[in-house]
Amino acid sequence: MDFSSKLLEQAVDEMSQLPGIGKRTALRLILHMLKQPESQTKQLADALTKLRTEIKLCKNCYNISDTDLCAICANPSRNSEIVCVVEDIRDVMAIENTDQYRGHYHVLGGKISPMDGIGPSQLSIKPLIEKVQAGKVEEIIFALSSTLEGDTTNFYIYRQLEGTGIKTSTIARGISVGDELEYADEVTLGRSITNRVPFENSTKN
Ligand SMILES: [Zn+2]
Repeated sequence: MDFSSKLLEQAVDEMSQLPGIGKRTALRLILHMLKQPESQTKQLADALTKLRTEIKLCKNCYNISDTDLCAICANPSRNSEIVCVVEDIRDVMAIENTDQYRGHYHVLGGKISPMDGIGPSQLSIKPLIEKVQAGKVEEIIFALSSTLEGDTTNFYIYRQLEGTGIKTSTIARGISVGDELEYADEVTLGRSITNRVPFENSTKN
């Protein structure tokens, strides 16, 4: 792409670093911004900068949070003895939308994926195990997507929990589109949390 403006080229280059945004789309978005009032672009830039400097991970569940303890962990009416293990904040949002779950979460920050060089130590698995070993948890619900990576991660954690005597369950499968929690409809997802099954049963065919 030949640019007559270095400034435009630079903005397009930065924008096209985002996943799913090619140079053409980036150019379209940047040109759109130039047509908008300057204040709008400034608000976007400010929001992104503020996000990067002020965002935290909840010290209890590792979910993205504005405060040291996220709103879910800080809510005294939630049951901290039931912990739902998820990949990221999108899963938390999907499950929260169902209004069927009153426990806590533990956000792993990804899934074990040797292909992508992601091992257990890069995820927040250790603090989860420690929480269980400290006797603070009664039940762990595995709610990772049923992909190879999701299953591997579930099983790894399950093995780490052996001997702790903790109750483990998994959300009932049969979640529709692509098995991604994010895309599952609220009714189906809500039902699968309510009708969760013991984890041991889910690993048998
Ligand atoms: Zn939290």
